[in-house]
Amino acid sequence: MKVTNLDERIHVLDNNSTLMTVIKDIANSGLQEEAFYVLDVGDIVQKHQIWKEKLPRVDPFYAVKCNDSLTVLEVLASLGVGFDCASKNEINKVLDIGVDSSRIIFANPAKPASHIRHAAAVGVDLMTVDNESELHKIKKLFPTAKVVLRIRCDSEVAQCQLGMKFGCDPTFEAPSLLRLARLLDIDVVGISFHVGSGCQDPPVFNRAICHAKNLFDLAVDIGFKPYLLDLGGGYPGNKGSSIEKIADVINHALDEYFPTDDVHIIAEPGRFYVASAFTLATAIHSKRSVRADGNSPGNVTHTMYYINDGVYGSFNCLLYDHQHVTPIPLRPGHGKMIPSSIWGPTCDGLDQVVENVLMHEMELGDWIIFENMGAYTLPVASPFNGFPIPKVHVVADESIWLLLKDALPLTEEHFVLGDTPQNLRLGLDIGGHTDVNAWNNPAMELAS
Ligand code: PLP
Repeated sequence: MKVTNLDERIHVLDNNSTLMTVIKDIANSGLQEEAFYVLDVGDIVQKHQIWKEKLPRVDPFYAVKCNDSLTVLEVLASLGVGFDCASKNEINKVLDIGVDSSRIIFANPAKPASHIRHAAAVGVDLMTVDNESELHKIKKLFPTAKVVLRIRCDSEVAQCQLGMKFGCDPTFEAPSLLRLARLLDIDVVGISFHVGSGCQDPPVFNRAICHAKNLFDLAVDIGFKPYLLDLGGGYPGNKGSSIEKIADVINHALDEYFPTDDVHIIAEPGRFYVASAFTLATAIHSKRSVRADGNSPGNVTHTMYYINDGVYGSFNCLLYDHQHVTPIPLRPGHGKMIPSSIWGPTCDGLDQVVENVLMHEMELGDWIIFENMGAYTLPVASPFNGFPIPKVHVVADESIWLLLKDALPLTEEHFVLGDTPQNLRLGLDIGGHTDVNAWNNPAMELAS
């Protein structure tokens, strides 16, 4: 039996506790100096319920790159979600928690040779390809792989475009790649695309699914038996956002182009599942008042706050993921609003979190909260200048605990009942062991 370490304990909240009371308890405990995250497991479960309701024909394969926290992977595995892995290490991370290799797609069209060999060795045979050279590489290293041809179809507006790097042209390149695969005797089992992360152009999914249908027909003519359509990522995940519009377009397009159930439809959502589940709490450790005329008191034109996380840590998402963040002071302010800026802790001038915002006067030791910090933050963060990457406190309310406790490979001692600051702190440091056989009892059925 495989055993894996669980480094984050889940704290079960009683009826009087909320995410905010937990954040306040930790922040005001007098024991906490570093920035920290609170991960609400219930938020992930709720997202899964929304996905199943809005996109009933589409099986999600979570994009591990988005946030590879162990709790996230374990909760999603227990809900029956599959995984999109970009590398050998991501594959190992998912296999190590007991997920079967058949629930993984190696969705990186440009793979190092050793990673392909590794995928072959561990039985991850489903992988995406978008060029000739990769087909030849797979022919040599893993000739029995099941290949998914990734086409390009870009969202007109997206937070992060991907088409300049990946995806073959669906009309000019894809047909010749299908023919080459046939010549090489490589099994092409389907078509995939990624319209761009943070897609704000729902109709793009209709265009992409239409291209996929044409290529399915061509693949059949050439002699393949394609059965997999992969809709990639691009679905929004922040609080208050909705996948409704995208889901409507997808459902209509599937009804039109892939009306029968003989094609397995999957997608690779990343930010949808995790963005809103993570809230970051940061503390002000330094402050500088800028005055219009030098040192004269009371003439502050701008206040600069220095907090304990920045663009080299969690806020790398400002640079790489083009995110916008909104500071929420934990303590309600009063008095006049002052033009302010917020800076990270390193010595680099680039390390600015918020350029210009109106805020009440804040003091050293005050906390500032940032919501929607779960996507493309933690896996990219570095401890540059010696500032640690924030730890994650995991919370779940009682109903979520009841839902997951039998399906997650956890025993009761992995949970901390009650949410005193002392418990919350202790819970971070205690590891445990998981029984992967428990995956046989997915919470998916309970959650759907
Ligand atoms: N699939 C692939 C191949 C990706 O590269 C990405 C993100 O870059 C995703 C899925 C996840 O995308 P999103 O977070 O927009 O859902």
